[in-house]
Amino acid sequence: MNRTMAATRVCALLLCCATACTRRSKPAERSWPAMGTFASVALPEADAEKLDSCVTQAAAVFNELTGTLSVFDPKSDIATLNRAAGKKPVPVSSATHTMLSLSLEYAAVTGGCFDPTIGPLVRFWGFHHAEVPASLPARDDVQAALRLCGYRHLKLKRSAAFLEQPGMAVDLGGIAKGFAVDVCFDKLLARNVSRVMVNLGGNIRAAGSPGNGPWRVGVRHPFDGDSIVGVIRLIGGQAVATSGNYERFVTIEGKRYAHIIDPRSGMPVQGMAAVTVVAPTAVEADALSTALFVMGTRQGCALLSRRSETHAIFVEDQKPLHLRITPGMQALFTPEPAFAHSVRVLPPTP
Ligand code: ADP
Ligand code: MG
Repeated sequence: MNRTMAATRVCALLLCCATACTRRSKPAERSWPAMGTFASVALPEADAEKLDSCVTQAAAVFNELTGTLSVFDPKSDIATLNRAAGKKPVPVSSATHTMLSLSLEYAAVTGGCFDPTIGPLVRFWGFHHAEVPASLPARDDVQAALRLCGYRHLKLKRSAAFLEQPGMAVDLGGIAKGFAVDVCFDKLLARNVSRVMVNLGGNIRAAGSPGNGPWRVGVRHPFDGDSIVGVIRLIGGQAVATSGNYERFVTIEGKRYAHIIDPRSGMPVQGMAAVTVVAPTAVEADALSTALFVMGTRQGCALLSRRSETHAIFVEDQKPLHLRITPGMQALFTPEPAFAHSVRVLPPTP
């Protein structure tokens, strides 16, 4: 039987207190549904009185961006752009323009492994409410969907965007949540909030400290949703995001296919269980976690050797579990004692 399945959306666990702290202070935190997932804002206990206004501002940002970026809202810029594919350029808001231009940057940086025009393949494989193929699709059919993708055919003008071929479709599922977190984060910081953690479906960015050391985020065990493999400390405004094969997938002929698709082959990525990325911005962590999931450990590590502020944990889809981390991740990641022997630091790529 073919079914689209969704497991729990929570892929990061907020850990509020370092084990060494003497007084347990619990951040003030609230979560609510937003952008098809859950959002949350956390503040140090001492700033709890600001929580209401921060949540109001964050919710307004996420609602506004959903209205412009969602493929599901027929009035959004992205839905309008997709309907006009192959016909004409459409005017877009400045937020959409920035989002599309960042998407094209990450497409170029990752050699097209992150591709914002992945829409036709996402639908072809039965994601986004489309019908799941009853049996494994024929190669020619995959190739036909693949021919409708290609970020080089997404053209940006001053305040307009154009998809050059009919049937093309932009899908920002791999980057929009990170972008939204950055917009929200900047807005809160501009309003004198200096200690905050913003989370949108596991895309997290934090400023300051909750009161006893840096903000800490648990990294989910990819094979066991009830446990974590370790904790990441976020320092100096850093962001973290995870792409995994366990949250959204389709089952075809009894085999699971994850929702991240390799734009080189048109096939859902096999072989990776999860990639966690720490980066200076949430948009980078989001885009690169998706891209590195496609690229795999070796190629992904080579890409990060050229980006000194971005670090990753790669978990391949095999047991026993191994946590392969880039050198810069060592200072940020503490494995749980049970996984201390599973960590391997990847050698720097020449
Ligand atoms: P999540 O959205 O579950 O947090 P990701 O950030 O990794 O996970 O995004 C996955 C989504 O990105 C997919 O559901 C799809 O919408 C889109 N996507 C899939 N493959 C790619 C790709 N190669 N490049 C860009 N976006 C992709
Ligand atoms: Mg992503």
